[in-house]
Amino acid sequence: MPPSTIAIDGPAASGKSTIGKRLADELNYLFFDTGVMYRAVTWLALDGGVDVRDEETVTRLARETPIDVAPASQSDGRACDVIVAGRDITWETRRPEVDANVSVVSAYAGVRHEMSQQQRRIGQRGRVVMVGRDIGTVVLPEADLKIYLDASAEERARRRFDEIRARGGEADYDEILSKVRERDRIDSTRAVAPLRPADDAVILDSDRLNADEVFARVKELCNG
Ligand code: C5P
Repeated sequence: MPPSTIAIDGPAASGKSTIGKRLADELNYLFFDTGVMYRAVTWLALDGGVDVRDEETVTRLARETPIDVAPASQSDGRACDVIVAGRDITWETRRPEVDANVSVVSAYAGVRHEMSQQQRRIGQRGRVVMVGRDIGTVVLPEADLKIYLDASAEERARRRFDEIRARGGEADYDEILSKVRERDRIDSTRAVAPLRPADDAVILDSDRLNADEVFARVKELCNG
């Protein structure tokens, strides 16, 4: 029997979502990318003209707006649907302005409290692969398997760069690298639930492994 609750944490662009989605599909589990919830709150604030530095208003938004994360309803490359007040904002949450502001929003204690409660409720049902920054440490400290997927900032920036170029977009490697570093800095130094591996997490460094090799290693861990 594979573990029922699987937590995968790690920094931005470490490949958590790709690996997590693949694992969930194979096990027929729910894939839950918790980052989309922080992205949804960030987008809500930006869309409503709220200053993301206004902690009180952003926290109220997080408390009062139901955010629904559901299995993907379309095969346009999305891993799940993100629905806010009946509106599908899946692709809006991937915008660069959300990338640039999400770490500020996700550092607010009140926002984290709201999000983690909802995530916990879903995680405790089991048969879930949950991906984020604090799943093994805060959201599901009792998870059956905890993986911390790491890679150097340079390698993660290179992967982001390749992804954007493969889609035909314009990308600047140095700019991506500095953004990745900035997000790492904020995520790992915040007071509440900073990014760090749980004491009982298995740390996987993917710098010298390709996606298939990382997946094979994760499968081994699932099989005990
Ligand atoms: O994983 P992704 O890059 O989509 O996450 C976006 C942001 O949401 C992260 O940079 C982090 O600030 C925040 N996050 C978090 N805790 C989680 C998942 C994401 O603080 N469990």
